Amino acid sequence: MNELASLWPTGYRAALVVSIDVDGPYGHINANGPDDYFWRGQTAYDLAAGTPRLLDLLKDRGIAATFCWVGRCVEDRPDLVERAERDGHESSIHSWDHRYYTPMSDDEQRADMQRTFDAIVAVTGRHPTGHKTPAWRYNDRTIAIAQQLGLTWRMDVAGGDLPWVVRPDASLAPVVELPPSRFYDDYTYFIEQTVTPRATAEFWCEDLDVLRDEGKLLCLTVHPFVSGRPGPSRALADLIDHAIDLGDVWIARAHDVATHWLANESARLTVR
Ligand SMILES: [Zn+2]
Repeated sequence: MNELASLWPTGYRAALVVSIDVDGPYGHINANGPDDYFWRGQTAYDLAAGTPRLLDLLKDRGIAATFCWVGRCVEDRPDLVERAERDGHESSIHSWDHRYYTPMSDDEQRADMQRTFDAIVAVTGRHPTGHKTPAWRYNDRTIAIAQQLGLTWRMDVAGGDLPWVVRPDASLAPVVELPPSRFYDDYTYFIEQTVTPRATAEFWCEDLDVLRDEGKLLCLTVHPFVSGRPGPSRALADLIDHAIDLGDVWIARAHDVATHWLANESARLTVR
């Protein structure tokens, strides 16, 4: 075991975050307009069947994941948010209606995050602590606004294989950046092209094996209307089962990884 293993809780040498972006139909409505009834129809699967299947898959394995909710989906299906909470998952912010943040003003971004924050609190009674921007279309101000809202983590920038800490305003609490990747995103395999679930699982398991050797972190992004479909759900299941079988991969919610990273920041800097 190399020295980086000390970066994770005792007994673990790498970490895996499973984040589930519940876009509902709003992702494709934002991207293509409200009259794109093909995608409205396809993404109707998201709340109707995909999210329940993924909740079942996670429950069968006793895994806690991070749900990134579009605020309008919280309004549409508060029962799914309640079930995720009951099952021990984290509820975090994935914008109000999946509009991209890149062209937004500071006030627009702040209002968009706050509205979704409030919708989650109204259902769960708990404050979300993290944010993922729709389609990772953030801008240079997004992280500062997340910090101003008191969020602990965000997952927008593929800036490495470990978290890092940022403090846009030195007088406020820091924010932990958790790195996603299009290579750990089910869109890449099942929407942008067609890869078999077995081959996709092979990609992801190879990634995890390398990151485990190096003592690092894999932040997976899946969508219920994609990975919640029957075949693709096996790719996610195979990755989780592989992580469980390895025995020393910490499968954790984004919030838990971020708080662990902050709590051990001084010790980690000593290691480096
Ligand atoms: Zn999304």
